Amino acid sequence: MTVSAENTLSKSLSEIVVPGVDRPLADVGRVSVASIDGERAQVDILLGFPAAGLFAELEARIRAAILDEYGPRKIEVRIVTKVTAHGVQRNLKPLPNVSNIVAIASGKGGVGKSTTAVNLALALSGEGAKVGVLDADIYGPSIPLMLGVSGEKPTSADGQSMTPPVAHGMQVMSIGFLIDPDQPMVWRGPMVTQALNQMLQQTRWSELDYLIVDMPPGTGDIQLTLSQQVPVSGAVIVTTPQDIALLDARKGLQMFRKVNVPVLGIIENMSTHICTNCGHEEHLFGSGGGAQMALDYDVDLLGQIPLDLRIRQQTDGGLPSVIAEPNEGPAQAYRRTAQRLAARLAMQGRDYSARFPRIVVEDT
Ligand code: ADP
Repeated sequence: MTVSAENTLSKSLSEIVVPGVDRPLADVGRVSVASIDGERAQVDILLGFPAAGLFAELEARIRAAILDEYGPRKIEVRIVTKVTAHGVQRNLKPLPNVSNIVAIASGKGGVGKSTTAVNLALALSGEGAKVGVLDADIYGPSIPLMLGVSGEKPTSADGQSMTPPVAHGMQVMSIGFLIDPDQPMVWRGPMVTQALNQMLQQTRWSELDYLIVDMPPGTGDIQLTLSQQVPVSGAVIVTTPQDIALLDARKGLQMFRKVNVPVLGIIENMSTHICTNCGHEEHLFGSGGGAQMALDYDVDLLGQIPLDLRIRQQTDGGLPSVIAEPNEGPAQAYRRTAQRLAARLAMQGRDYSARFPRIVVEDT
């Protein structure tokens, strides 16, 4: 096969729309091998985001495209994921063992931010990524409960670093492990950035593709400081469709923009309610709010999660919906949202700081 024929094949495969995220392959991955001769075709695809659940459908689309263009032959398709590290705020250094920190934020409390964070983390892990979760929500560190490790604590072999508990295959650190939740807020506030820095720097994170950080809700001083000090690759805003929550969400989005953290998109939680008796779908909190906000700020609406009793029961019971009922509607909604989030991040600039040595100019 000639080089130009390979290029033609590679180019047409790059235009295939990746299922689930509806982006051309060239946007979220690349064709690393595309060869074809009389009897055989060999295609290797490198995806930039974890998508085990999409491989079969993507492979089918690749086979159909080759069949269509070149006729029947033996086709071998290999698809692998490689998550790269993406850039962080210019004045910060990425964490050594963590490719990407993703902040999950909300303009106000009670919109389902923590619930969304744990389910997204589990969905990314289920799609094949190495994932950790960091609970930075000082107002109510609920992640250990949601992941069923509330009785556990990090351990330390050397008195310096902390080894975090592991839940459902993910490392979990929580501000709740370090601060006394009964302490009044006035004390907790100033301690929090210090405690969070400690959790980030001194935790023995194993090589992670994603560290999902559940941020404290709101846009006050604490939140601003955290968004300036945590080296994040991107932030996601969780909101309900209600106007008031949306107003708060807008403030949250602007806060990240102000400190140069890319906003990967918006997740509309409690989007619709499906009646447990009759299956009727209702927009309890209004409809279209998240989509409108996404349009206004030119960001993606990454997903819409239904208001579903099972989500509350399962997540508050320590077994979030993504693993409790992986084939049901809520789990599917979380998985789709996680894939879109990760694909969005894959489209962002890479982090080159690890490849180039830091140049330090010293006065001697
Ligand atoms: P936040 O972190 O924003 O304060 P939580 O994640 O703690 O909010 O959620 C608040 C409550 O709402 C919890 O009891 C949670 O189980 C419930 N909840 C969150 N999202 C949903 C949903 N989509 N459907 C049903 N209940 C939900």
